[in-house]
Amino acid sequence: MAAISPPPARTAGPQCRPQPAQDFLLRKGQIAKIGAAPDERRAIEAARARSVEYRNRNYGRVSGFGRRSDNPHPPTFYAERTTFMGLPLVLNKKVVPALACVEAALKRECAGQPYRPRTVGGIRGENTFKDYEVSNHVYGIALDIDPQLNPCCHCVGFWAENPVCRKKVRSPYERMAMPKCWVEVFERYGFHWLGHDELEDTMHFEFLGDPDRIFE
Ligand SMILES: [Zn+2]
Repeated sequence: MAAISPPPARTAGPQCRPQPAQDFLLRKGQIAKIGAAPDERRAIEAARARSVEYRNRNYGRVSGFGRRSDNPHPPTFYAERTTFMGLPLVLNKKVVPALACVEAALKRECAGQPYRPRTVGGIRGENTFKDYEVSNHVYGIALDIDPQLNPCCHCVGFWAENPVCRKKVRSPYERMAMPKCWVEVFERYGFHWLGHDELEDTMHFEFLGDPDRIFE
């Protein structure tokens, strides 16, 4: 049998590994339901606790949530300046490589539907959810792209007045200026799009993949 020659050495840096969002981190499993049976309520609370513990351990502990032993550092300890499509933003350093994978793929694959973001937002010091929910912006693992063009139709506040939110649509993709191709690329590298959520938050992506599996 002929000897098998080794694969050629990689020259273009590490390869981005496709991965799905981890189900247990999805927002929809953690939201309290009116009229939930005790079993269901306990399952929701357990899902919420698991999600907080995982995020605290990986991305920094949010004060008031989880246990002190989860992480000695707050998320701001992991904050890193980066850029996305030429725009500056600050994210948790553990997810910066995943966003770089997304950006490279967007340039490769979505050039047919040109879209140039004007504003992006990442980490936030304040929790924008009330009560028990911790926004992934606080962990620095979420970003918003052009809120003016990609609305959150079921968020609190003025959104519902937006004409795009008032029109009848068959899918949330019709409620935004961003191309669907962008959503597909983000989702391939572990980001969850909140356009799928009941909030229809079309500007918002959050990294729910495994930060230790961003590269092959
Ligand atoms: Zn957001």
